[in-house]
Amino acid sequence: MTLHELGWRGDAPPTRADSVGRVAVEHRNGYVVYTEAGEVAAEVAGRLRHEAAAGKPPGLPAVGDWVALRPRPGEARATIEAVLPRRGCFTRQAAGRAVAAQVVAANVDVAFLVTALTGDLNPRRLERYLTLAWEGSIEPVVVLNKADVCPDLRAAVARASAAAPGVPVLVVSAVTGLGLDDMEGYFRGHRTAALLGSSGVGKSTLINRLIGRDVQRVQEVRDDGKGRHTTTRRELIVRPGGGLVLDTPGLRELQLWDGAEGIAPAFAEVEDLAASCRFADCAHESEPGCAVLAAVADGRLPLDRLDGYRKLLGEVRHFEARHDARARAERKRQEKAMSRAPMSYRGQYRYRN
Ligand code: GDP
Ligand code: ZN
Repeated sequence: MTLHELGWRGDAPPTRADSVGRVAVEHRNGYVVYTEAGEVAAEVAGRLRHEAAAGKPPGLPAVGDWVALRPRPGEARATIEAVLPRRGCFTRQAAGRAVAAQVVAANVDVAFLVTALTGDLNPRRLERYLTLAWEGSIEPVVVLNKADVCPDLRAAVARASAAAPGVPVLVVSAVTGLGLDDMEGYFRGHRTAALLGSSGVGKSTLINRLIGRDVQRVQEVRDDGKGRHTTTRRELIVRPGGGLVLDTPGLRELQLWDGAEGIAPAFAEVEDLAASCRFADCAHESEPGCAVLAAVADGRLPLDRLDGYRKLLGEVRHFEARHDARARAERKRQEKAMSRAPMSYRGQYRYRN
């Protein structure tokens, strides 16, 4: 497998075949990394781990990351020395006290936003996924699955297009195979795609079709260098037909992280209107001279687009408020620890958490 086939962009790095690789699995005891020389188990160098713990970017490697490796002679293991610069990423709010964004998937080119054509399309959810993709500089593609059981495809496509203006909408069926070649087209040039969507919409079934075998089959990995094996499923899968599918548990539970930047493209037409409101800080509630409300009143802007916009803005503000509160609490804690230290040591000691 060449780096190009593993999704590498641009010129090949001037390195040995086993010194650069792409993270295929992240598990409790380390990583599995694809290299041109094959697959290796790897762990993170101490320095990189310490920097990540201190909140220093790029943090720990994530599935999809390109990493610089130091092979360990005579061992089937390697050390991850560095994380190479990332392109499109999905990030989420880190669990626990740390407030750094956590990368859950790196170097993703295409995000298939999957919904099922059974039941009603949820435009709010679609808008959230769009926001996540745009924030991460990932190209979104809407996938309407289960076309085999939808009586009115045209209406469904119209609703999806209205919720995601300017974004391609594919109609597919993982069962009959309808539209799968459209999805496959997005893997051209060995691109990496991830599937986002609620449980039950058919992501696993689609992935199995796209890679042409049963990925859910558990694969064995030599894990700890002592001959012990643990079972791990690949989370970055190389397609026999070219390109890669990225599917991690973390992707399935993405939360909104700092959505402000992504709102503009997801609600471009609302933001365009808002630019003409009389007041720069117009909340589009009842302000005089509000261009957004005027557009709703005369039917140029559907009311549910405004509702979606408000809801997302509300979530972003809520998140930012929580983020600020945590940052304040953390500063206070540090000041308290500092004030307990003997005077002469202040400023010299870094306190452990
Ligand atoms: P996931 O939770 O998104 O991974 O969804 P799954 O792939 O597990 O699929 C959920 C259910 O939907 C399963 O029973 C699938 O067989 C079914 N399913 C998936 N794709 C299609 C489709 O295109 N048409 C129909 N009728 N059922 C589908
Ligand atoms: Zn307004």
